[in-house]
Amino acid sequence: MRNVKAAVCVKCGAEFDAGHDTYTCAKCGGVLEIVYDYEYIKSRLTKEILTSSKDFSIWRYIELLPIEEGARLSPLRGELRCMLRAGWSPLYKTEALGEAMGLKNLHVKDDGLNPTSSLKDRASAIAAVRALHAGKDTVACSSTGNAASSLAGAAAAMGLKSVIFVPERAPIGKVTQLLMFGATVISVKGNYEQTFRLSAAAIEKYGWYNRNAAVNPYLSEGKKTVSFEIAEQLGFNSPDYVALSVGDGCTIAGVWKGFKDLYAVGLIDKLPRLISVQAEGCCPVNRAIENNSPIEWMDENTLADSIAVGAPRNGDKALAAIDESNGITVNVSDEEILAAMRLLGKTSGVFAEPAGAAGTAGLIKAAKQKRIPEDALVVSLVTGNGLKDIASAQLATKLPAPKAAGIGAANAAGFSSRLIHIEPDMDLLNPLLLHPQYP
Ligand SMILES: *Cc1c(COP(=O)(O)O)cnc(C)c1O
Ligand SMILES: [Zn+2]
Repeated sequence: MRNVKAAVCVKCGAEFDAGHDTYTCAKCGGVLEIVYDYEYIKSRLTKEILTSSKDFSIWRYIELLPIEEGARLSPLRGELRCMLRAGWSPLYKTEALGEAMGLKNLHVKDDGLNPTSSLKDRASAIAAVRALHAGKDTVACSSTGNAASSLAGAAAAMGLKSVIFVPERAPIGKVTQLLMFGATVISVKGNYEQTFRLSAAAIEKYGWYNRNAAVNPYLSEGKKTVSFEIAEQLGFNSPDYVALSVGDGCTIAGVWKGFKDLYAVGLIDKLPRLISVQAEGCCPVNRAIENNSPIEWMDENTLADSIAVGAPRNGDKALAAIDESNGITVNVSDEEILAAMRLLGKTSGVFAEPAGAAGTAGLIKAAKQKRIPEDALVVSLVTGNGLKDIASAQLATKLPAPKAAGIGAANAAGFSSRLIHIEPDMDLLNPLLLHPQYP
C-alpha cells in the first residue's frame, strides 16, 4: 500500500507491515495504529478531486484507507466485488432541534441510514475486504449487536460466512438481522466481557478473520470516514464540536483520527472538540477522564445496549481522543436518552436507537449547562437506527411494555437452527461447532 507507511505500536513504537493482518504488537502486545504517508496522499486527495467524485460511499476516501490496490476486485473477473454501500449518510441542519436545546448552528449526521442501519457498517466494509484479501472464508466477531449485524451483512454481500457472538441481552431486532444475513449466531449467557472472551478463544482456535474492534486496528480506519464526510458536507470545514456516544471507544478514536487525517493533508484548518457521551450506568471512559485515573471496569447498567461496555477495549485510544481534542464528557440517564429519542424524532424525523440518541442526549445536557456556546457549529452524530430496537422505542413512546421475547424464548420456540444459546464456555461450544451445519 503506497499510501500507508506502517502499523505502529502505540505503546512501544515498533513498526509492522500494514499489508498483513497484524493486530497487536508482537513485541509488547500493545494496540497498533495505521500511519499514512500524508505527503503522498496530499496530491491525490484534493478538494477538486473530491468535489468531482461520483463515488458516494466510504471508498470515496480510499487514499486514506488501509486497503491494498486491487483488494476490492474479484480475483476471477477483475471486477469490483459486490459490496454494500456504506457511508455518505446525510448531514441535516436541524433548526427545530437546535432551537429546542438553545444551539443556533446544529447539524445531525444520521448514520442510522447505513445499509444495516448503524455506523458500524463503515468498519465492517473494511473488515470484509481485508478478510477476502487475506484469503479467509469466514469472518467472526463478538458484539452487543450492531458490529455483528453489519459484519454479517457485509459478509453476505461478498460471499463470506460469518460466526457471531452476542450477549443474550442483545435486542431481538439485531439478532433477527443476523439470521436474515445467514450468520451462525452464538448467544452467550453472560455479559459482553464473557462474550468477548469466548469469541476470542473460538476465533483463535478456528482461524476465522477477527473483526473484534478491540484488537483489529483497521476498523477505526473505516469509522473515521464519518469525519471525512462531516467535514466535506460542511464545505471542507471542521465543526467546533462533535457529540457522540462511547462504548468500546473505537468510534470516538476513529472520529478523532478522521479529523486529524484531514488536517494533516490540509483539507481542514482546525480540529473539533469531541463531546464524549456515556450512560450514567456504564461510563468507565468518562469516569477515567473526570477522575484523571486509569479506566476501571463498571457494571453494564443501561438500556442503551450498544454502549453498555463495562470493560472498554479501546479505552486508551478513546481517552487519548478526548484529551487531545480538549474534549468534554457528559453522562446521561436512561430517561434522558429516551427523551432525546423522542425529541430527535419529533423535531427532525430521525429515529435513533438508544445508543444512537445518547450523543444527542449528552448535547442537550451540556447545552443546558452552558458548556457549549450557543453559536458554535455543532454536529450530533446519530450512530444507529431506532427500528433495530423497537422495545426501547416502545418505552420512549410509553407504549405498553412489550412482552419479554428475549433470545432464550425465541430459541425455545425453535426460532432458528442457526442460533446457539450457550454458557460462556469453549468446552460446550466446540462440539457444537463440529456439527456440519456450523459455521
Ligand atoms: C458501537 C456503537 C456505539 C459506540 O461505539 P464504540 O466503538 O463501541 O465506542 C454507539 N452507538 C451505536 C449505535 C453503536 O452501535
Ligand atoms: Zn509494542
